[in-house]
Amino acid sequence: MSLRPTVDFLLYDWLDVPSLSERERFADHSRETFDAVLDTCERIAREKYAPFNRLVDTQEPQFDGEKVILPQATHEANRAYAESGMLSAAQDYEEGGMQLPYTIEAAANGFFGLASVSIGSSLLTKGNANLLLVHGTEVQKAVFARNEFNGRFSGTMCLSEPQAGSSLSDITTRAVPDGADFEADPLGARYRLKGNKMWISAGEHELTENIVHLVLAKTPGPDGKLIPGTRGISLFIVPKKMVDAQGQLTGVRNDVALAGLNHKLGWRGTTNTLLNFGEGKFPVNGEAGAVGYLVGRPHEGLRCMFHMMNEARIGVGTAAVMLGLAGYYASLDYAKNRPQGRPVGPAGKDPTQPPVRIIEHADVKRMLLAQKSYGEGALALELYCARLVDEQHTGTPEAADDARLLLEVLTPIAKSWPSEWCLEANSLAIQIHGGYGYTRDFPVEQYWRDNRLNMIHEGTHGIQATDLLGRKVLMENGKGLQLLAGRINGTIERAMQVPELAAHANALGQALAQVGGATKAAWATGEPTDALANAVPYMQAFGHTVLAWIWLDVALSAHMATEGAARTGRLAAMRFFFHYELPKIGAWLQVVSSRDQTCASLPEEAF
Ligand SMILES: Cc1cc2nc3c(=O)[nH]c(=O)nc-3n(C[C@H](O)[C@H](O)[C@H](O)COP(=O)(O)OP(=O)(O)OC[C@H]3O[C@@H](n4cnc5c(N)ncnc54)[C@H](O)[C@@H]3O)c2cc1C
Repeated sequence: MSLRPTVDFLLYDWLDVPSLSERERFADHSRETFDAVLDTCERIAREKYAPFNRLVDTQEPQFDGEKVILPQATHEANRAYAESGMLSAAQDYEEGGMQLPYTIEAAANGFFGLASVSIGSSLLTKGNANLLLVHGTEVQKAVFARNEFNGRFSGTMCLSEPQAGSSLSDITTRAVPDGADFEADPLGARYRLKGNKMWISAGEHELTENIVHLVLAKTPGPDGKLIPGTRGISLFIVPKKMVDAQGQLTGVRNDVALAGLNHKLGWRGTTNTLLNFGEGKFPVNGEAGAVGYLVGRPHEGLRCMFHMMNEARIGVGTAAVMLGLAGYYASLDYAKNRPQGRPVGPAGKDPTQPPVRIIEHADVKRMLLAQKSYGEGALALELYCARLVDEQHTGTPEAADDARLLLEVLTPIAKSWPSEWCLEANSLAIQIHGGYGYTRDFPVEQYWRDNRLNMIHEGTHGIQATDLLGRKVLMENGKGLQLLAGRINGTIERAMQVPELAAHANALGQALAQVGGATKAAWATGEPTDALANAVPYMQAFGHTVLAWIWLDVALSAHMATEGAARTGRLAAMRFFFHYELPKIGAWLQVVSSRDQTCASLPEEAF
């Protein structure tokens, strides 16, 4: 079983990505160049990533007191990725990029996630460099972003602190101007930072010449005190090693020290660190304080950071999808080969007959089809969102604005839905392996452990749900939700014309009406405490409705394809989703619509 036919079908038969070459930015591209990129990534993933997935899990990063040691395979995988040009795939030619559509970049990156999700941390480097391209000065772009795109430097995102994860308004890392001439530094206004950053992925390693930390810190107000809330937060580039304005290392180490490595449940190929900024371990010019250069304007740090959130969240969603699909492929292979038990009907009564393979049992088929419908459906959603990113960047002004709003509403789902349901897929993959699935002799337990991260980072499940129901569906007078409803209704209308799909189109119409009704009912009192008490069940129902829409739309393309196993499988996965999954939304929306307070009102001592 291979991912490639599914990716090809979604990109070419469903999303018609080659039509993007009609746009000026992508004029040099065609299906041929897209295929070449996908081929290259598939090959590197097969050769440099997949064989080492278990190794990076068992040989966790080690700190020898001076350096973080990673397996040689990690160094080679990272080098191969950088040499492929994928770090700057979507960038302008002048930046050394390929001007590839983001949809192709996202699809191509999927192969690496499938092969070994944690061996590389390129998403962070790209996100970091992309942010600098938008908010950095020309010198910052040349010194930091370009050297990240060419693989010389790598990047991190330093938001979280030990006491402040979901609530960034409570961060205490502070930055003060460094000397009277602080504004005259060619690398940007120079500050000194002090504080601790927790959970920083790829925060320390020897994979690249330098590490570019993007750090959120508070700059004191005129009274010298930290400004409460998010208003006081600014964004800084804090390089691990000091550089000059030409990007050369000066030989001076910046005052950023590894306080410790976190020992994680999964995703162990990437180091995860507690970093101390400015505690004097590596004084610069004889002084404690990490040197940082301001990015953008003071007090606009969070706004700058959130600029790249859509793509980061599509990246997290895609990683969750790939882990879901990895488990699906492993359990499918196992189910085809494992003999166990006999059919439930009369044919199974004869013990002298050989056992059947477990794929012949209806319940195992159910678990396989569930994984297929979660994984392939979520992959379609991620690619749809990636296509919206391209629309936002290259569409007509009206189409670009629609894409922006649709992304606002869809990104909480693109991040959270695969994090929850592709994790469930991994659990089913373990179940299909029986006792063997619960051992480390088979890969499925690692997929589950790796995937368990995705509901936690990049905004936890609860935070995403609050964002969806508390902000996204309301913003700009609900225009994003209306746009989405318009797209869903467009699919429903087309599916109504196809007898085989008409009943599903009806079911989707009803689901959409239920979600619309629940959104209004949740906000009927106008009280956030009423509306948001059941934000996660709302997000689950919203997500299932979105996935049903995606599946119906995919089915319209599948329906046109020639007869064969792929067509049969896609239509069956769509039917599975409508018969086994979509009906669940009734229970989720019931507590939303009635603004049920069973959980929210329970006093602490009753737990
Ligand atoms: C492996 C890993 C890698 C990471 N990489 C990075 C990184 O590179 N850079 C970085 O800056 N951070 C990173 N993080 C941090 C991650 O973003 C945080 O863990 C996350 O934001 C949650 O913060 P927290 O752990 O402090 O949990 P808390 O914020 O304490 O939350 C604990 C629980 O309470 C719930 N909760 C909290 N507040 C609310 C609320 N207002 N409403 C409803 N529920 C709430 C949450 O949903 C959560 O389940 C990483 C984390 C991990 C585990």
